[in-house]
Amino acid sequence: MRAAVAKGFDAIGFSDHGPITVDCACNMRAEDFAAYRDEVRRLQTLFRGQIDVLFGLECDWLKGIQPMSFYDAFETDYRIGSVHFLCFDGEASAVDFSAESQERMVMSQFNGDWEAFVLDYYRNVEAMTAAGGFEILGHLDLVRKFNEGGRLYSEKAAAFNTAVARILEAAADNRIAVEVNTGAVGRGWRSSPYPAFWILKECRRRHLPVALNSDAHAPGGLDAFYPQALDLLREAGYGGGPTGPLRLFEG
Ligand SMILES: [Zn+2]
Repeated sequence: MRAAVAKGFDAIGFSDHGPITVDCACNMRAEDFAAYRDEVRRLQTLFRGQIDVLFGLECDWLKGIQPMSFYDAFETDYRIGSVHFLCFDGEASAVDFSAESQERMVMSQFNGDWEAFVLDYYRNVEAMTAAGGFEILGHLDLVRKFNEGGRLYSEKAAAFNTAVARILEAAADNRIAVEVNTGAVGRGWRSSPYPAFWILKECRRRHLPVALNSDAHAPGGLDAFYPQALDLLREAGYGGGPTGPLRLFEG
């Protein structure tokens, strides 16, 4: 909190990984949720007048395992909907845990077909976005995490454009903002934020609002790569500053 105030933020959102019904060390345990909520609400009161504190959750899409309505009871100020897992026969497999585990999934579930894997990821993002129940679409092309420089596959397949267009249509229909996430840049995985610049331009063309997020896991990274991301936003045609209670950049 002190870092956010020192950096001159007028608002800060907390969006820890919400509880899931799958065993995963990255997500908070259901029994820890109340302590998390109470702490953020406490900070909200403590810092009133100094900085707006928003109580959020990053909510996981787990196809066939857990519906997004699972999060309805949590009474957050805002939610980020994200796909971190692909599900096969009731088993969840993390997309972004490590390059090795991702490659194992592509080999075992997609016969080594990277394009099929990426398209399956995008289909999941589309289904989640169409289902709705959240305000911000998290790192919509997280699937690219380990593919800097196209080391695993070309990111230029025409099928990807079509898949992303369908996601953005669903976002527009449900009035969901697209997250511009600098987390992978801050942690050295990618040289530019999610989503890719061509997707950002598509967002602008469709007048979709965007939400800039450092996805910081520590105070030092709260505004990591914001100047670069703001340059990209301007280059994509976004102007002006953030607006509204969620500080979205209007499309
Ligand atoms: Zn995430």
